[in-house]
Amino acid sequence: MRDFTLKTYRLLLDAFLQSGYCFQTFEEFMEHSAESKAVIMRHDVDEKPYNALKMARLERELGVRATYFFRIVKQSNVPEVIRNIAALGHEIGYHYEDLATADGDMDKALKSFEKNLAYFREYYPVRSVCMHGSSTSKYDNRLLWEACQLSDFGLVGEPYLSVDFNKVFYLTDTGYAWDGGKFATRDIVVNDFGLKFHTTQQIVDCVEEGRFPPKALILAHTLWTDSFMQWEALHLREFFRNNIKLLAKNNQGVAKMYKKMVDMYWKKV
Ligand SMILES: [Zn+2]
Repeated sequence: MRDFTLKTYRLLLDAFLQSGYCFQTFEEFMEHSAESKAVIMRHDVDEKPYNALKMARLERELGVRATYFFRIVKQSNVPEVIRNIAALGHEIGYHYEDLATADGDMDKALKSFEKNLAYFREYYPVRSVCMHGSSTSKYDNRLLWEACQLSDFGLVGEPYLSVDFNKVFYLTDTGYAWDGGKFATRDIVVNDFGLKFHTTQQIVDCVEEGRFPPKALILAHTLWTDSFMQWEALHLREFFRNNIKLLAKNNQGVAKMYKKMVDMYWKKV
């Protein structure tokens, strides 16, 4: 069976529900972490917003509420999708990359952050933000928080800053695998729960056997699809992207070329 489809996503959610886990949105978790076993489903909508909408509908069908972080770029920021996902009862957050887009200019970055946050608040009373990795930029978007605080903007949390990952197990589906962390450049979380997964089925088994930690934050991107064509194309793309990223770590020329390609792909709105 193909992994990272809506079918396998349903299996994953079902496993948690049947094993007594509840689902909390990120803002709910920040306000009061559930007493019971709980999972926070976080979706970074880097691209493919219509896939996000399909995931959101499936979650709604199962009574699950999740958190969707949208970027300001046009590949992510589709008003119709944001509106629909909010209407399904999910949390909307801002996936910010202002320091990278402002080329490190802090004043400029703070102004655009404020403006973009206000924009997303037209759809939802946004209280959570989460940095975008901006792997080809030399600026780490989180450095924004050296100049100000979350509360200055009426925010309650930022996953990379506000969560104790010694207590909350972190999982991410980087590059169509649950152990693709080695390909990440900046969005890295060090976790020591002694668990390692490659496929979604392995997680399902672990949950059903009662070995899965009681609290988890799971990052699932929007590459999950039932479309065979899209799934094949994305697999191929992820394979090349991961290898270029690895090459770029040791080769300036490849790094430059990769940055150019990424900048072209994410042309601003
Ligand atoms: Zn991102």
